[in-house]
Amino acid sequence: MSQSQQIRYQIYVTMVWISYAVAIVKSPGSPPQTYTPERGHWKRWCYKCKVQKPPRTHHCKSCNKCVLQMDHHCPWTLNCVGHGNLPHFLRFLVWVVFTAAYTFVKLFQRAISFYHDRNLPMYLTNKGEMVAVIFLLPLVGFIWLSVSILLIRCVIHVVTGTTQIEAWEKERIENQVTTQRFWDKVGDNYKSCHGRELPKLESWIRPGSPMRADDIIFPYDHGFYKNTVNALGPPWKWLLPWSGPSTDGIHYEINYDEQLDLPWPPDGGFKSGGEPHVYRDNSSEWTNDMGETLQDYGVDIAAEASS
Ligand SMILES: [Zn+2]
Ligand SMILES: [Zn+2]
Repeated sequence: MSQSQQIRYQIYVTMVWISYAVAIVKSPGSPPQTYTPERGHWKRWCYKCKVQKPPRTHHCKSCNKCVLQMDHHCPWTLNCVGHGNLPHFLRFLVWVVFTAAYTFVKLFQRAISFYHDRNLPMYLTNKGEMVAVIFLLPLVGFIWLSVSILLIRCVIHVVTGTTQIEAWEKERIENQVTTQRFWDKVGDNYKSCHGRELPKLESWIRPGSPMRADDIIFPYDHGFYKNTVNALGPPWKWLLPWSGPSTDGIHYEINYDEQLDLPWPPDGGFKSGGEPHVYRDNSSEWTNDMGETLQDYGVDIAAEASS
């Protein structure tokens, strides 16, 4: 590497460490004590934090607190990824992917030059460097690949306005939408929220056929641009190390589902002791295709199920 390349490389590595430190230190945010549930959302009480949970908030088992717009608990940053620090977490991933790719290319070029010099006498070869290149090349390649997959997954969730936990919920609903148990719960919720029986629901994508999973409107998806700006702030700020989201993590604009007319998730509520609109998560035992339950994202199931 030339001297200018070395300086540039040092800057990239420094950015990895700075963004990593920010992702560790920056809090995702917790609900204020003053929060009261709004119309159109479930009433969800956290008995551990003694606070009403705003929509999209979950109690993290490792952090032992409620986390606004919780995405997942990250063991690498020992912090929850949520509303306040998702942009920082994404910037960290971007710097890791970029720096790992740059390192891989440089190591690969060095490996090729070793190959070209393969017929030179060994005393002319820097053996220590050769061993390092052989060792580091697959390691850096593995880091690049695994963090790239995580980054792609996060970006898909950002542009679709979905957290990892909500992606799990969507998958669960897709799986359970054909079961009577799901519709019984939706029916109960509808009755407790509107005081009447759930009407016959039709698919709006395929008129005439019964409602399916893709007919259920996810309330927080407002199109890729607005979703991205909500989560990461305006595009001209994305690369600034201190830039945060555009929403407050507590109040969310929702797409109104005229037919179903229930808060998200539609099968999440239940009627208890004359207190309607109380949320109870009784789906924690469900596992997705990857074998993940909500606990695998760090969610405290006991705190979720309280009411
Ligand atoms: Zn809590
Ligand atoms: Zn956490």
